[in-house]
Amino acid sequence: MARIVGIDLGTTNSLIAYMDSGSPRVIAGRNGRTLVPSVVALTDNGLIVGDPAKEYLVRSPERTIYSVKRFMGKSLADVKEELRYFPYRLHEQGGVIRIQIGDKTYSPPQISAMILKELKLRAEAHLGEEIRKSVITVPAYFNDSQRQATKDAGMIAGLEVLRIINEPTAASLAYGLQKKTQGLIAVYDLGGGTFDISILKLKNGIFEVLATNGNTHLGGDDFDRRIADLFLKEIRAQHGFDVEPHADTMQVVRLEAEQAKIRLSEDQKTIAAIELPPGKGRFRYELTRDQLETLTMDLVEHTLGPCRIALKDAGVAPAAIDEVVLVGGSTRMPLVRRRVQELFGKAPHSDLNPDEVVALGAAVQADILSGGTQDMLLLDVTPLSLGIETMGGVMSSLIRRNTTIPASAKEMFTTYVDGQTSVDLHILQGERELAKDNRSLARFQLKVPPLPAGVPRVEVTFLIDANGILHVTAKDVRTGQTQSIEVKPSYGLSDEEVERMIGESFKFAAEDLKARQLIEARTEAEAILKATHKALGHGGRLIRPEEIAAISASLAALEAARATEDHRAIRAAIAEVEKTTHHLAEVLMDSTLKEALENKKVSELP
Ligand code: AMP
Repeated sequence: MARIVGIDLGTTNSLIAYMDSGSPRVIAGRNGRTLVPSVVALTDNGLIVGDPAKEYLVRSPERTIYSVKRFMGKSLADVKEELRYFPYRLHEQGGVIRIQIGDKTYSPPQISAMILKELKLRAEAHLGEEIRKSVITVPAYFNDSQRQATKDAGMIAGLEVLRIINEPTAASLAYGLQKKTQGLIAVYDLGGGTFDISILKLKNGIFEVLATNGNTHLGGDDFDRRIADLFLKEIRAQHGFDVEPHADTMQVVRLEAEQAKIRLSEDQKTIAAIELPPGKGRFRYELTRDQLETLTMDLVEHTLGPCRIALKDAGVAPAAIDEVVLVGGSTRMPLVRRRVQELFGKAPHSDLNPDEVVALGAAVQADILSGGTQDMLLLDVTPLSLGIETMGGVMSSLIRRNTTIPASAKEMFTTYVDGQTSVDLHILQGERELAKDNRSLARFQLKVPPLPAGVPRVEVTFLIDANGILHVTAKDVRTGQTQSIEVKPSYGLSDEEVERMIGESFKFAAEDLKARQLIEARTEAEAILKATHKALGHGGRLIRPEEIAAISASLAALEAARATEDHRAIRAAIAEVEKTTHHLAEVLMDSTLKEALENKKVSELP
């Protein structure tokens, strides 16, 4: 089997890892660094990627693209808020963003593909073989189109993306948490510019995202800025020099602020030294860890609010969390570790390099896929099926149990009664055939204009996002009228209950199926009887008397069959009615009635 690599395609930095005789390993470049800055710059010699491109951020910002991940799978309207942080010139083509560099435009997947290609080359140089298959990580909150855009980027780079996995899941894999078989995991990810908290539930080697939260504009850069502001103030006070108008020196101050911060993760105090422009002297400042912590305390506190919300959304108390995993370079700060430990009441996992942990986990997943590990496949899945109640009290599943999330499904329904002015949508969870045996999640109504039964078209869409939130939308296709609701299917659902529900679905499978088939056949029979009587009333005079007699006989047979418990007999009788009414349906001038007769295959809503 060809080798599969694991890739962390990050907002600021990206990494590539592989399984090296049983342990995941990140591949370093020629400069010895494992991180490839996610930066692409257009130079006179063409496009460059990574460390050399990063130098262009200051030199020619209009030709340098960073943070492209924020634009993946988005439309221009989606990123309006985001744009104030970026100097880019963006266009839109067919609903997809295009970023201008020089006189050319590129889609975000094309830019991401350049980063992926760089990683691919790095791996090929290290391993001495062509790399064609990969696992790529994305944030847990990425939706379908953002995941698709990531896959597209892989394809453009010549990398088949065998699986997209969630970053917090990858981080958990890197620590081997899947071997624990079950537990609740909090993954706290504080990088350079973003903060994410994810609450995962692990069960039988399968990770489910219970909740995510975070702040897309909070990270190490904010800590640097606090220190830089202090330096700027001190330079003004000590040297009477205002750095702000001097872009180059500003950059030096920013970099030294970051270096001082990094040193203070190890040391209690550090000396920052900055060479000022000629004639302005040399700035020296002793910064202590205590001082840094006072300066940035509120930033750390800002990460704890989203943690509490995520816990609440997941329906778990902080103390119920079994494992805490740290991701992102900023989690090396002692203050961050302390506050996270206090919140969850347990020491976080921190043995692995927090910059590398996601890539390492991607390599573990890649190894599982290539058959290197005899573990189960690891997915974020729905534990129980989701669907709606249809006529006669049966459950119609739209998203099946164990579907990888996010997932979506669409199905068409219609009305049962003539002139029905609304349909009831009853959202259900479970494996049983009858609505009454499943868990009721929510109900709502959609208004429909009064039309003959079977004519309205109600399109029901289920979308379960990466946070496990189910968005249900019902739309009357004719009028465009829409109603929707959001529910959290995992809310208040214990593992025992899931097990019981699945267990019962097996236990009662045969009875359930019989009951369902009977209900469905009877419901359809009733609808056909009604529609046919009505059609006869309207169009009886347009067909020959023998035809009428045949139809009446088939209707009587159907009436009789409907009274039995034999769904097959009912189905056969329905087929017979359909055969005898074929001509009637054809000659019927009233197209709506014809439609109703022909569309009896669509399930009805109460
Ligand atoms: P990431 O996006 O995960 O690569 O994280 C990068 C961020 O981590 C940058 O803001 C770095 O300044 C920060 N960082 C890296 N190492 C350390 C460290 N030892 N102490 C504090 N922050 C660090």
